[in-house]
Amino acid sequence: MHACPRLRFPREQGGARVAVIGTCPEWQVRGACRGSFALDFFPPPAGERRDEKRRREGRAKTICANCAVAGECLDYALALRDVHGIWGGMSEIERRELMGLST
Ligand code: SF4
Repeated sequence: MHACPRLRFPREQGGARVAVIGTCPEWQVRGACRGSFALDFFPPPAGERRDEKRRREGRAKTICANCAVAGECLDYALALRDVHGIWGGMSEIERRELMGLST
């Protein structure tokens, strides 16, 4: 059993969605986002200004750009469809656009 870095986030921040399906894929423990900066990958519960969001997502995407499991991560998020936050270097809006869904 290994610790899943994303399960500790509440439902509105994407973690519980993963918990609901009951899996923590092996690749998650190899993600470059493990560590104290993981909060950059999810919006804060109290909301954030547009410029704060842009900076936070930029920091997260920089980490994703050097992640060895970015492909697996993006595939996983696309399969979940409605998961929040940055996964595989893409925001939820970017993933919805990629899937041809309205934003
Ligand atoms: S692609 Fe980004 S969000 Fe996904 S595991 Fe890697 S660093 Fe984390």
